[in-house]
Amino acid sequence: MIKDLSWLNSPLQMWVQNAVLWPVPPAPSLDCHGCTRANRAKGVIADRWRKRKCCTFQPFTPNFLLGAILETQKLPHFSQAVNSPLGLFPTSEYRRRYSSTHEDQRGENLLCAFFDKSNASCRVWQNRPSECAVYFCQETRFFKDRSADLFDLENAIAQMALIHHGWTAKEVERLLGWMDWSDADQVGFCWKHYKDREQDFYHSCWHWAKALTLNEIYSWLEPSVQARFDTWICIP
Ligand code: SF4
Ligand code: SF4
Repeated sequence: MIKDLSWLNSPLQMWVQNAVLWPVPPAPSLDCHGCTRANRAKGVIADRWRKRKCCTFQPFTPNFLLGAILETQKLPHFSQAVNSPLGLFPTSEYRRRYSSTHEDQRGENLLCAFFDKSNASCRVWQNRPSECAVYFCQETRFFKDRSADLFDLENAIAQMALIHHGWTAKEVERLLGWMDWSDADQVGFCWKHYKDREQDFYHSCWHWAKALTLNEIYSWLEPSVQARFDTWICIP
């Protein structure tokens, strides 16, 4: 049976390619280029979806994925997100604005830093975070559930990348706390020996992550997360 992994980003495709997937429903057929949602809306709302699509959202982008992105392009300026050793995450101020704005009203001030306004598309499509990769505006239980699984998996790799590069478990725990703290913008001093060499660090994380197997990654997951993976994937 042909395994369709096109709904995953490139790093996830690389790790999952040798695993057996239980029967997975086909990904919803959407025209993301023209935006199915824009085609169904009318007037200014259609314009909003056509111009900005579902990218008025700044996803958590783990350190190794930033390294993968850096292989082909520079990182954009992140005015609404924090560069941390764990990866990139939206500021608390951004998150407040995002959650208090209805999706039809989300404007340019919430656009993802990876969005290319000139052709209304994602600049990092092959390496977009899993949250984006499994987001289909047409509700599907299966893919919605995979979003949580893959977010946890990417987060686990980002944490192990830190340990591999000399952070202690306690420091990683503190960094995880910052993802939800209101002063998340103040993480500069957490860079330790990579201070002022953030991009070198992201490169190194990707170099390290490329050699991982799905089996190793799976072994780092909490048992409850492993159980969620066991419902759709058989780890070799
Ligand atoms: S997933 Fe996003 S880009 Fe694709 S059709 Fe839906 S709203 Fe448009
Ligand atoms: S990473 Fe790409 S797909 Fe995800 S929100 Fe940003 S521009 Fe959109």
